[in-house]
Amino acid sequence: MKKSFSALAVIALALAQASAADKVKVVSFSSILTEIAQEVGGDAVTVTGLVGPGVDPHDYQPTPGDLKRLSGAKLILASGRHLENYLDKLQASAGGDALLVKVGDQLPSLKMAEEGDPKSVVEDPHWWNSVANVEQAVRVVRDAFIEVEPAAKAEFKKNAASHLARLAALDKWIKQEVALLPRDRRELVTSHDAFQYFARDYGFRIYAIEGIRTEQEASTREVNELIDTIKKQNVKAIFLEDTLNPKVSTEIVKETGAKVGGTLYADGLGAGADTYEKMQKHNVTIIVEALK
Ligand SMILES: [Zn+2]
Repeated sequence: MKKSFSALAVIALALAQASAADKVKVVSFSSILTEIAQEVGGDAVTVTGLVGPGVDPHDYQPTPGDLKRLSGAKLILASGRHLENYLDKLQASAGGDALLVKVGDQLPSLKMAEEGDPKSVVEDPHWWNSVANVEQAVRVVRDAFIEVEPAAKAEFKKNAASHLARLAALDKWIKQEVALLPRDRRELVTSHDAFQYFARDYGFRIYAIEGIRTEQEASTREVNELIDTIKKQNVKAIFLEDTLNPKVSTEIVKETGAKVGGTLYADGLGAGADTYEKMQKHNVTIIVEALK
């Protein structure tokens, strides 16, 4: 009796190992894309997310241990739009034949002047702060999965369709919430310039303390100009970010009398927001609450 039980256990273990080996290995360098890959891939994939919630993607660099985890990957998902400067070494780490998809590169991009140099034009990498862009990202990930694993095409399409339905509901909810704010109250002072896509979709104007990369520190002149703008426009609240130091923001609050509206998730999922839906609902709720 005992013997046959352990034989069954061995067979079960072998089956589990076989099915794990059959799954498509995906490595993601964006917490937003990690969730999309899990939702769209379902049981056909295993997803390793290397830039986790609460990690600043502008600062992240893969460690040798991270690169080892790419071994055997069939698909690598990156944010793109020049957010990651380490992408060229990833395919070699995966074993050479992985498909690398820079998802943001396949979405319409906003362009903006580089901080301190109004003549230079850079692409804004923060595509995920538009739900419409995230919907498009779901389609890009779905199509990449179909390319690397055509046998699971029907499953990927079905999973993508149900995830897209949830995103459409989220977009509708955001529009309803933002409609509670008069147009002239839709002015958002944030730590760095991460919300231009959100502003485009929902009719906000952004005043950012730092540029589109978090490494750029605001100069004293820029901070003083922002303080003047906040006073002139009578902006009621400014917002902090979960991965950034609030030092400059504290000074601006002191100088302007604007209150701190709360802490936004700007660059991906966070400790208190482990899904995109929670991230957006958190951001929109505190923005509307603080500005109305
Ligand atoms: Zn950012």
